[in-house]
Amino acid sequence: MILIYPPISIPTEPPIGIANLSGALKKHSISHEIVDLNIEGIYWLLNNAYPSEDIWSKRAIKNMEKNIQNIKNGALFKNISRYKKAVYEINRILEIYALKKGIKITLSDYTDKNLSPLRSKDLIDSAKNFKENPFYNFFSERLSFLLSSNSPDFIGLSINYLSQALCAFAIIGFLKSNYRHIKIVVGGGLINSWVKRGMKKDLFNGLIDHIVAGQGESHLLSLLNVKPLHHSVYEPNYERFKKELYLSYGFVLPYSTSTGCYWARCSFCPERAEGNVYIQKKPEVIAQKLTRIVNETKSSLIHITDNAIHPYVLDAIIKNPPCALWYGFVRINKEMEDLDYCIKLKQSGCVMLKIGIESADQDVLRRMKKGLNIETAKKVLKNLKIAGIGTYIYLLFGTPFETDKSHKKTMDFVIEHHDLIDFMNIAIFNMPINTPDNRDIIFKSFYEGDLSLYMDFEHPKGLNRLYVRRFIEKTFKKQTEIKTIIDRQPPFFTSNHAPFFVMAKS
Ligand code: SF4
Repeated sequence: MILIYPPISIPTEPPIGIANLSGALKKHSISHEIVDLNIEGIYWLLNNAYPSEDIWSKRAIKNMEKNIQNIKNGALFKNISRYKKAVYEINRILEIYALKKGIKITLSDYTDKNLSPLRSKDLIDSAKNFKENPFYNFFSERLSFLLSSNSPDFIGLSINYLSQALCAFAIIGFLKSNYRHIKIVVGGGLINSWVKRGMKKDLFNGLIDHIVAGQGESHLLSLLNVKPLHHSVYEPNYERFKKELYLSYGFVLPYSTSTGCYWARCSFCPERAEGNVYIQKKPEVIAQKLTRIVNETKSSLIHITDNAIHPYVLDAIIKNPPCALWYGFVRINKEMEDLDYCIKLKQSGCVMLKIGIESADQDVLRRMKKGLNIETAKKVLKNLKIAGIGTYIYLLFGTPFETDKSHKKTMDFVIEHHDLIDFMNIAIFNMPINTPDNRDIIFKSFYEGDLSLYMDFEHPKGLNRLYVRRFIEKTFKKQTEIKTIIDRQPPFFTSNHAPFFVMAKS
C-alpha cells in the first residue's frame, strides 16, 4: 500500500489523516509507504524555478535557502515585517513557475484559470492531460522510482482541500496510464464532503476504484481484508514522514482527539450538513499518549486538529500536560470565565486558542445556535490575555440572520477589544448544500460546477456577497484598530504560523 498526499496544502506539518491511516496499518503490521508529494513537490518547484528577469524574482531565488532556514530556526517570528518579506519571496518563486500556463501556485493554494476543481469534467481532463500538470516531471519520476521496487495492490490519495484536487487527479491519471493493475482509493475531507452532498460513487469510474467517505481507517483495512479493531486502539504514526522538510519552527505534531464536533448545533455548519459522526478518544488516555508521542517525535508544538476540543480533553491536558506547547480550536466554555482556569490552561502548555466568535450580535448568535454569550466572550478574551494565551478569532459576515446593524455591532466589538485579539480570520458566509437549516431560504443556484459544496441564496435582508465584501473591505478593514490586527496576520500560513509569533513574544 502507498499513501499519497497531493499538492497543494499549507506545508507546515504532516497530514494528520495519513498519519492516522499509517497508524492503523502499522497496528496490523501491513507494510506501506507514505509520500507527501505536497511538501516534496513544493521543494522541487523551489529548486527548479526558472531564472527570471525581474528583480524581485531574482532576489527571491537568491534568498530562498536563507528564508527557509529562518522559518525553521524561528528567527523570522520576532519581526512580522521581516517574516512577510521572506514568505512573499518564497511564495514568489512558486507563483511564477506556471503562471504563463494560467496556473497560480502559492504556499497555500493551486488555481488553474482553465480548470475548476468543482467540475467533474475538469478533474477528468486534469487526469487525461496529466503531463500538463506543473508537478508532472516531479511526481512521475518520484512515483516511478518508488514503484520500481514496490508493487502495491492499492494506492490511496488523501484529498482534503480544493487546492489539492486538480493535482490529485493528474497523479491518478499518471498512475492509471502506467500502472493499470493498481487500484486507486481516494478519501479525505474534500472527498467526504462531496459524497455527503450527493456525489455519485461511480462518477470517476475508470480513474478511481474505491471512494472512502468518513473515517478512513476501518474502510481501508476492510479493503485489505483485515478486520478493523475498535478505533480507540489506533494511534497516529509519524515515523515515515520527512519531518525536517516542513516549513515550521521545529516539528509540529498534528493530533486529533476527535472527529466530528461535540457541539454539532451551529446552523449552516458544514459538519452538521454532512452529518459527520462525533467520535471522541478517551480524554485521560489522550494526555498520556501525547506525552509519549511528543518524546518520540521530538515535537516543538502540538497542533490539536479537532473542530472543537472537548472541555473534558482540556481538563485532562491541564491535569497531565503533554511536555510540549500546544494550540487548537475551542468553544468558549463556562470554565474559561474563571481566570485561574485560563492560567492552568497556559501552564499546561497552551500557546494559542482558535475561537469561532462569528458575530457580536447576541440575536445572531442565538439564531445561529452558537451557544455563545457575547458578554462571556468578552470576559474570556480578557482572561486569556492576562493568562498569556494568544487568541485567533474567527468572524463570519453575511449569514441569513444578519442585518447592517449586526455588522456594525461586530465591528464595534473588535474595535473595543482589539488589544485582546492577536489574530483574526474574516470570512463571508457560504450556504452549504444539503444544510438542514434551510427553512425560509430561497436558493438560487450552485456556485460553479457539479461538485460545488455551496449554493447561492437570496439574503433575507438583501445583504448579498458583493454587499458584504464591500462592507468588509471598505469599512471594517479600514478601522485603525482592526487594521493593526490584520497587519499581524501571517500571509499564506495564517493560524499554522501564528503560535510561533505568540511564542516569540513571551
Ligand atoms: S462548533 Fe464549529 S464545528 Fe461545531 S457545530 Fe459549531 S461551527 Fe460546527
